Parts: sequence; structure tokens; C-alpha cells
Amino acid sequence: MARKDKNNNGFGDEPPVGIQHRCNFCGKSASKVKRLFAGYEAFICNDCVNLCHDILISSPVEGDDGESFTPPKPLEIKAFLDKYVIGQEETKKNVAVAVYNHYKRINVHADLRKGRRGGDDDIELEKSNILLVGPTGTGKTLIARTLAKFLKVPFCIADATVLTEAGYVGEDVENILVRLYQSANFNQARTERGIIYIDELDKIARTSGNPSITRDVSGEGVQQGLLKILEGTISNIPPKGGRKHPEQSFVPIDTSNILFICGGAFEGLEKIVARRVGKKQVGFDAENLNINENTADILDYTEPSDLLEFGLIPELIGRLPVVSALKPLDKNALYSILTEPRNALTKQYMRLFEMEGIKLSFESEALWKAVEAAVKKKTGARALRAIFEKAMLDLMFEIPSKGNIEEIIITPEVITHTGNPKVIQKSHKQTA
Ligand code: ADP
Repeated sequence: MARKDKNNNGFGDEPPVGIQHRCNFCGKSASKVKRLFAGYEAFICNDCVNLCHDILISSPVEGDDGESFTPPKPLEIKAFLDKYVIGQEETKKNVAVAVYNHYKRINVHADLRKGRRGGDDDIELEKSNILLVGPTGTGKTLIARTLAKFLKVPFCIADATVLTEAGYVGEDVENILVRLYQSANFNQARTERGIIYIDELDKIARTSGNPSITRDVSGEGVQQGLLKILEGTISNIPPKGGRKHPEQSFVPIDTSNILFICGGAFEGLEKIVARRVGKKQVGFDAENLNINENTADILDYTEPSDLLEFGLIPELIGRLPVVSALKPLDKNALYSILTEPRNALTKQYMRLFEMEGIKLSFESEALWKAVEAAVKKKTGARALRAIFEKAMLDLMFEIPSKGNIEEIIITPEVITHTGNPKVIQKSHKQTA
């Protein structure tokens, strides 16, 4: 029973003197490789492990081919968004429906490819890419990111302003796909059903005074580039990004099932919308006559023609059929953002202090002070984090070195940098 022999049992014991174990895959001996892993009756070297790993991620295993994906219902999607995103009810609904339809469409196409549906099914379901318009810091990126988290699909954020046409200095549109591929752990099939958030789409609008007589590097050309991947193309990406060079092997990525969510503040769009709505109203709907650019929900009236006037090219507008406007966040919303979402800022700080064995709480007035400071900054909820980071810095600096604190209560003075928090010492409590 040589197999059971202690020196030959395959579990890494030393081989008999004079015999060297070999990798059973490539045949190299133990002295020629960095590591040799022992199995039951065989060995594998580090190089072969790496090779197998590469093969696995470039050809997905069954069940990871993007075809067995059952999308959650719109109600479920919205319920999940509610846990993280305060307000923006219309947008959350819009997005939930668009995403549900998007993944249904993918399934229909997969069935058609596999012949599981009859040829009479000739109704083409169009892709429902989404455009989110609204002020900065109101939750556009958050919604896209939360969606991806819920759907467990790869996600990446790209900034439209750094993109240029292929060949110009800057980032190629294709690089967005490289990033998604990386986020998908280099799995091609998963990449092809991911979500890409393109921020600051408004910044690549063509300027109205410059309707592309010369080549408009920063605006229209980039829109054309984006259009291609938005509508669906097969893009050969260099797996590691950067510039393409001929010796490299490329990974073909089909973008037709990737969901694109674009966002931007679109400053000035409200004027365009108000002007158009205003024109229509004259002599008709007297009730609505006071709609103007300052009306809170003016962007709800956005139509494709307004986006065209703003400077998006018609083809791109056509590829963004779902347009949803996010509302500026009022004080109550900002307050809720501090306390309610799953990963609300105050909850994050509480957790950090809990790890030091300290109970942390915030006086309500302190939170209102932070809200007031945020409103002044005019960057939506984005300002809240910076305000807290500043206010909490000293505490975060000193606390880890102090061992005797039981509880800390953040007062309004901490936020306004005019006073200290209430600190309850451990010993103090015990003697009290
Ligand atoms: P933008 O609309 O500019 O994309 P973000 O989604 O990046 O804004 O928001 C910035 C930060 O502000 C988020 O990370 C989140 O913490 C907070 N935030 C913004 N809007 C909301 C919201 N509606 N609900 C909860 N948190 C929000």
C-alpha cells in the first residue's frame, strides 16, 4: 500500500531522500517553483494555480453567465432604496421601474438567443438608460450606487468631464468599461450586465454659441463616444486599461445590456424649461401661470427639446428615455439624512465610538446646527460629512488614548466650535 506510506501520502510530507515532488500539471520539480501545493495524490505549483485562476475568471462557470438573473420587483427595489435614500420618491419609483424593465429585457433577449421564445416575439424592448437631473448632493450617485449594491452587479462611476474622444489627451470612453470590468473581478459576463454611473453629463453639453463648426473636443465628440457605448456596441478593451497597443490581447465587451445612469446638475435647465412652459401657458392655463424657474419642481417638466437646447445631442437624448428630476433637499430632509439611512453619519460615528467602548449620542439641537451650516454651503447633503469631520476631529484624535470614558454627548457647541461635548467618566458614574 504505497499510497498510505507516510512519505508518499500526498499531504506534504517530506519525500524520501533523493526523490523530488513535481507539479502534476506542468511537471516542474519542487526546486524549480516557488510553491508546490500537495493534494491527495497530486501536486500543483503556484504558476499552474495562477493559470487556472486566469482561465476561471475569463470563462465564467455555469450560473454566472448573466442568464439566470431574476430581477427583483419594482416595489422591492424601491423599498431597498428607501433604506439609504431620503426623499426623492418620484425618482426612486422611476428608477425602480426602469431597472426592473431593463433586466426583464435582458432575460427576453437571452431567451430569444437560446430559442426559448417563438420567432413571433418581435417587439423590441428598448434599453431604459436613465438620466438624473438635479442639484449637487441630492442623491444621484447614491441612488445608482445603492441600486448596484442591491442587485449585486458590478458598478463604477465615471466623470464625463475627464473623457475625451479617442486619440485626444485624456481618458477614452472605453476606459469606463475597463473600470467596470475591474469591478466585475475581470468577469466578462458579469461586466456585461453591470451598472455605470456617468456623472456631470451636463458638463459635456455643447455650448450653444459653438454648434460644432470646428471639432468640439470637449463636448459633442465625447457625447458621440458615449452614445456608442450607451446604445450598445462591442468594445474591445485592454484588460488593464491605459492606451491600446497592438501586442495586447483585448477583451470584447458587449455594452447592450449594461445599464447606464447619467447624472448632472444641469444648471440653467430650469430657465429653459420655464421659458417653454411659460410660452405654452400664455392665454391657456391661468392656474399654472406662476410656474417659473424658481418653482421647486420645475425640472419635472423637462422634455427632450429642453435637453437639446441645453446642449445634448439628439441621439444621446434618445438613448436616455427615462429622465427624472431630483429635488433640492430641505432642512427636514437633511436632518433625516443624518439619522435615518442604514449608514447615516451619526450611526457611523456611534459605531466608531462603540469600538472604543464608548456610548455616543447627539443632542437634537446639535444636528439642527449641522443642518443649518450645510444649507449655507449649498452643496446639498454633501456638506454634512465635512461639517461633522471638522467638528469631531479633536474627539476622534483624543478619545483612543483615554481609557475612562463611558459616554459622550455631542452638543450644539461642538458643531459650532464654541464649546465641548458632555463627557461622562466611567468612575464618575460608578460613584454616582
Ligand atoms: P449627487 O446628487 O451630487 O450625485 P451624492 O449622491 O453623491 O450627490 O450625495 C453625496 C452624499 O450626500 C451621499 O454620499 C450621501 O451621504 C448624502 N446624500 C445625498 N442625498 C441624499 C439622500 N437623498 N438621502 C440620503 N443621503 C443623501
